[in-house]
Amino acid sequence: MSTWRQERNSKALARLERRLSGSFPACVLAHAYRQPLIPPTQRKAVESYWRHRPLLADRLARALAAKSGTPEGWQWHLGEEKANGSPLSFRSPPAPFRQPAFALGPGHCCVCGQPVFRLGWHRDLWGDGKPNKNASWHSACVIAWQLWNAPSDHIKVLKKRQDRKCLLTGRRLLRNAEVDHRVPLFAVWSEHRFRAWPELLGFWGAPNLQVINKTAHQEKSSEEAGRRARQRLAPSPSASRIITALLSADS
Ligand SMILES: [Zn+2]
Repeated sequence: MSTWRQERNSKALARLERRLSGSFPACVLAHAYRQPLIPPTQRKAVESYWRHRPLLADRLARALAAKSGTPEGWQWHLGEEKANGSPLSFRSPPAPFRQPAFALGPGHCCVCGQPVFRLGWHRDLWGDGKPNKNASWHSACVIAWQLWNAPSDHIKVLKKRQDRKCLLTGRRLLRNAEVDHRVPLFAVWSEHRFRAWPELLGFWGAPNLQVINKTAHQEKSSEEAGRRARQRLAPSPSASRIITALLSADS
């Protein structure tokens, strides 16, 4: 280890331990000690812990959302105006608590709706008895939100999860492999949008993510584009009923 790093780490360690509260999560502290560059503050240690565990953050954020449930009166809409806070495209995960009409205010996470405690933690380890009024994100939900919106940034951990095999062809993943949503997001919007909100988040999270080789991805995408075009051309169920009724009246 370079002398520079040794010196930096012993300073960081001294700083971290000086402010360390007895209730600080042991798993985060163990993570901090293992880092090549030790985080010098509790907050930085918590951020680093979740940054290294995007899949765990995703699972936790969805579990917290399930605890909150779908807010009363909320439905997934695509926003025409930015003002109401609805996502503009079906590519963004629905986030009711980010919309002004359903926001729970400071002290609650704008992603999952649950209370946020010290250091952005999701449980009141310090026995404060109340959420931290200055916080509106869990540290875990920050990372989950990043994964849901830009899964390609986490390709390394997703590749590792599937043992570096292409899940479509069974072959080894090549360097240009890409992240894919098993159920494409347009189909989530057209076929699943009335599901309960916490369940919807699973379509952005790890359960719906896979890494596949570029050629396989191109084939899958062109099949999906064909399906989407057919869906657009197909008459709606009510139109089909009218057509059937007209045809039977004729005969
Ligand atoms: Zn949260």
